[in-house]
Amino acid sequence: MKKRGKPIIQVRELWKIYRMGEEEAAALKGVSLDILQGEICCIFGTSGSGKSTLLNLLAGMERPTAGEVRIRGAQVSRMNEEELAVFRQRYMGFIFQSYNLLPSMTAVENTALPLMFRGVPKREREEEAVKMLKRVGLSHRLGYYPGQMSGGQQQRTGIARAFASRPEVIFADEPTGNLDSRTTEDIMEMIIGFARRYRQTIVMVTHDPDMERYADRVIRLVDGVIVRNESTAVCYKEAFSRRKEGQA
Ligand code: ADP
Ligand code: MG
Repeated sequence: MKKRGKPIIQVRELWKIYRMGEEEAAALKGVSLDILQGEICCIFGTSGSGKSTLLNLLAGMERPTAGEVRIRGAQVSRMNEEELAVFRQRYMGFIFQSYNLLPSMTAVENTALPLMFRGVPKREREEEAVKMLKRVGLSHRLGYYPGQMSGGQQQRTGIARAFASRPEVIFADEPTGNLDSRTTEDIMEMIIGFARRYRQTIVMVTHDPDMERYADRVIRLVDGVIVRNESTAVCYKEAFSRRKEGQA
């Protein structure tokens, strides 16, 4: 069995309460969990169960009402905006359901963007972007703008961008939510393949139960509460080799 990593994400008694006028809605109600280094963690739940809220709190995109989030031991939930920006650029990557590519930039420019924020010189970052785009099968689309690409191609660009700077943790909110099942499989294999190769941690939100086969850890949320938190590393490996045999 694979050697287990140490916790890279530690969440303790996390609450998020949204206030709208007189109304209060508790999106997360005291969530605690650990995610280990190198794990592919899938967060499941129906719409409105708090998945995106949890992901946004982990990534420091929103502030908790109470509780704490630590990544690599650092208290993300206590950082100011500036510290957060630096921390995100250094350690985090993001993959979005709607791709979030900049429409005025080519595939290469979009992919190179996180490297620019890290201060990598232009020529180097463009070389790396081209390398990444080739690896996601887009060598024939390097100079294309998002509007000239299919959803699947845009998400491949999104993956190239997320992995270009080799972040330790990658957050993905419904990364295949807008894609057909065939493309979904390609995209997932790509995400998992990169993550395994560089031993990166993936935290992925999805409402698609079929995604469980990719997960080392499965978290299920119901109404802002964790009802399942299970490590499935061994099952995953078996399922993966079964799948590969099936394809052969
Ligand atoms: P999921 O991603 O699982 O669909 P969300 O995390 O988006 O769920 O939402 C969880 C709950 O919190 C829902 O009831 C939603 O209406 C509420 N919620 C989410 N974001 C906000 C917000 N910005 N303002 C008010 N309520 C919100
Ligand atoms: Mg959501």
